[in-house]
Amino acid sequence: MSVRIYPIRLGMDACYVIQDRGTIMVDGGFPGSARAFTRALEKLTIKPLEITLVILTHGHFDHIGSASFIREQTGAKVALHQADREQLEKDKVTWPPGITPWGKLSRGLFKPMMSFLQFELPQVDILLGDEGLSLEAYGISGRIIHTPGHSPGSVTVLLDTGDAFVGCMAQNSLPFCLTPRLPIYAQDIMKVKESWRVLIAKGARTIYPGHGKPFLIEAIKDVL
Ligand SMILES: [Zn+2]
Ligand SMILES: [Zn+2]
Repeated sequence: MSVRIYPIRLGMDACYVIQDRGTIMVDGGFPGSARAFTRALEKLTIKPLEITLVILTHGHFDHIGSASFIREQTGAKVALHQADREQLEKDKVTWPPGITPWGKLSRGLFKPMMSFLQFELPQVDILLGDEGLSLEAYGISGRIIHTPGHSPGSVTVLLDTGDAFVGCMAQNSLPFCLTPRLPIYAQDIMKVKESWRVLIAKGARTIYPGHGKPFLIEAIKDVL
């Protein structure tokens, strides 16, 4: 059977369940998404215990906010790159600088709300390094690739089919943007572009962003 990809919206975070010979999940949802997660799995008729690995594309609050609950429910291992893990130990809610005028303005507008966010930091079972990780052991033909830029420890899940789950290396929805584009917030936008070139060279074709709907790689090639 070929690989199946199920988008699950957990708050403003677009998460994905990927199923082939095994089942994994990309990203851990916005804080407070426990019910949405449970309902989404029920609708897909996927049992929580089927998920054996949850890959956090990076350590920002909107992608890890419900990971602790998901880990508990599924018994899955949680993977995060060590650089973002280190950042989380220093500061639970980090938010990279705005790159575009709207990025700068919106960061100022939304930042005060962040102090109201409540969530538990997930336990990290697999600390990812720069060398990446094969997903064969989890029944998925693909690998995790270190793609820094949006955050130092951002990673991408790249399947052999060319499907790429990139977290916030790209955004494709409000309040960020109207069409697919590079992130409006980034630690280092030059590194984001460098990471995109790596992904393109490795065969990324269909992009599944951390916010918004999937799109084709051409949209990124146009802006690089
Ligand atoms: Zn982020
Ligand atoms: Zn995000």
